[in-house]
Amino acid sequence: MQTIRKGSRGGDVATLQHALNLIADGIFGPITNEAVRDFQRSHNLAVDGIVGPKTWAALGIGSSPNPRRIDKIILHCSATPEGEDYTVDQIRQMHLARGFTDIGYHWYITRDGKIHKGRDEAKIGAHTTGQNSYSIGVCYCGGCPPRSVKNWANQGKDTRTAEQRAAIIRLCKELKSRYPSATLHGHNEFANKACPSFIVKNDPDLCAL
Ligand SMILES: [Zn+2]
Repeated sequence: MQTIRKGSRGGDVATLQHALNLIADGIFGPITNEAVRDFQRSHNLAVDGIVGPKTWAALGIGSSPNPRRIDKIILHCSATPEGEDYTVDQIRQMHLARGFTDIGYHWYITRDGKIHKGRDEAKIGAHTTGQNSYSIGVCYCGGCPPRSVKNWANQGKDTRTAEQRAAIIRLCKELKSRYPSATLHGHNEFANKACPSFIVKNDPDLCAL
């Protein structure tokens, strides 16, 4: 990762913004600057707004490229009923309760389109049996019909909000810029499951990436 500061632009800025739960527009403006300073303050770093090796390391983002080979980006849904929120912390707690060492996904997208950092990308995720070693797991909140529908938990429904669709595209674009040889997939390509409740290869926006 490069050293970046107010005025910087590009993929590294977007990565930083994802990690800080900001809108990842790739432009290091005043809001990003303020969030970096808050982060530095709470992590006992020099509060200068400059994201160099120490701040990147504290964010859990390596200053060197990911030592893992990444050849797939795999999309998931959280199997949450339509219209309901499920936070990244709730997912993390659920996965910890299952015996995982951390949240299984690397990135999680809430209904408002915010991109939340999950497991560090350098660590192997726990999201797709047989495919975890060389992949990045991305999950959006939703994927089932509303709770009022009988048997909702056993049905898939593409519940992505407009904000989630845009965020998934933005995130996948950014991931592909960092892992150029990686291909995009849905969990349902590797398992007899509905997840992520849509066909990635039929999504024109995702196919265009
Ligand atoms: Zn899945």
